[in-house]
Amino acid sequence: MIPVSLRRVAKRWHRVYRETRMVAMALKSPRHPVLAHIIPVRRCNLSCAYCNEFDSISKPVTTSEMLNRIDKLATLGTTVITLSGGEPLLHPELDEIVRRIRRHGILAEVLTNGYLLTPDRIKRLNRAGLDHLQISIDNVLPDDVSKKSLKVLDQKLRWLSEFAEFQVNINSVVGASIASPQDALTIARRTVELGLSSTVGIIHDHSGQLQPLSDEQQKIIAEIQSLSKPLFSIARHNPFQKNLIQGLPNAWHCRAGGRYLYICEDGLVHYCSQQRGHPGIPLVQYTREDLERESNAPKPCAPYCTISCVHRVSLLDSLRENPRHALEQLFPPRDEDGHLTRLPAPVRVLSALFLPSHAGSGRRFFRNAAMRILGIN
Ligand code: SF4
Ligand code: SF4
Repeated sequence: MIPVSLRRVAKRWHRVYRETRMVAMALKSPRHPVLAHIIPVRRCNLSCAYCNEFDSISKPVTTSEMLNRIDKLATLGTTVITLSGGEPLLHPELDEIVRRIRRHGILAEVLTNGYLLTPDRIKRLNRAGLDHLQISIDNVLPDDVSKKSLKVLDQKLRWLSEFAEFQVNINSVVGASIASPQDALTIARRTVELGLSSTVGIIHDHSGQLQPLSDEQQKIIAEIQSLSKPLFSIARHNPFQKNLIQGLPNAWHCRAGGRYLYICEDGLVHYCSQQRGHPGIPLVQYTREDLERESNAPKPCAPYCTISCVHRVSLLDSLRENPRHALEQLFPPRDEDGHLTRLPAPVRVLSALFLPSHAGSGRRFFRNAAMRILGIN
C-alpha cells in the first residue's frame, strides 16, 4: 500500500496539471462554462440565520438524474463542477456523483458545513477522486446566527488534516451578520496550524449584495490574508474584494448564465444562488446559443456583487480579452509604498504561454508544445 503522504503528493501534482489545463482552456476559448455549481439536495442539517439556500424537507435529487445533469454539463464543455446545497453530504450517493464528474476529466469540488465528515467519509471521498473541499466556518462558538463553529468542527479539521488526499480550504467570514469579526482570525490561525488552506470571504445579504465593512473588519481581512503565503492565490490578489471591503462598486461584466452556471435541485439553470429565475431554463434544454446570450446579458446587480467564484471566472475572461489591463488590475505595477512589484512566477509562465499579447514567434513553439502536453486542441 502506498503511504498517504506519497499519494497526497502525486494527487496534488496531478491536480495542478488539471487546474493549469482548466485555466489554459478558459484563456483559449470563451465558449464553454468554466464553472458550474450544482445542487444534489436542498435540505440542510443546519439553519444559519443569513442563509436563503436551504430547506428542511427536500429529498435528494435521484442519482440517475444527477448523473444525467453531470453528463449534460460535460457535453457543454464545463471544466469545474462544485456540489453544494443545502448540505451535499446528505446525498446518499455523493461519491458516485463525484466519480462521474472525474470520469469526464472535470475538476470536482464540494462545499459542505462539515458536520457529517468522519474518517470513513473522507476516505470515501478520496477514493471517488474529489479534488477540492471547502468548509465555511462562521464563529468560534455557536450562536443564534450560525452553528458552523470552530468548537464544533475542530475535530473534523483534524481528520481532514490527517486523511484528506484532496485540497481542503477553510473559509472564515466577516460581514454584517457575524457578531465577532475577531473570530475569523482565530479560525484562520487554526486552519494554517493544521496545514490546511485558508481564505476569508465577505458575507452578502439576501440579494448577493454587500453591507459596508468597518475599519476593524477590514484590518482583520488584511491580517488573515497575510497568514498563508501560497506561491500564487487569486484570493489574495482579488481586486473585487479590495474594492468591496472599502464599500466601492466594481465595474465588470458578470458572465453568469454562460461562463458560470448555477443548477438548482429542479435542474434549472440560474445566474447564481442569489438571482434565481434568470434565465430559469432547464439544463437539459440549455444550448450553446443560451450560453452566449446569457454570458453577454447585462446584470444590474454586478457593481456590489460579492459572489467571489463568479468574480474569479470573469478575471480569466478579462485576461483573455485585455491581458495588459487585467494583469495591471490584479498586480498593480507599484505597491501601496510605491515600490515596483513583480508578477508571481506561475502567472509569468501562464501569461507567456497562453495570452495573445505574448504570441511572438519564438514563444509560439513553446505554447503549442504546452497545449499538446495539456491535451488542448
Ligand atoms: S450550513 Fe450552509 S446551506 Fe446550511 S443553512 Fe448554513 S449556510 Fe445554508
Ligand atoms: S452580478 Fe452575477 S453573480 Fe453577482 S448577484 Fe448578479 S447575477 Fe449573481
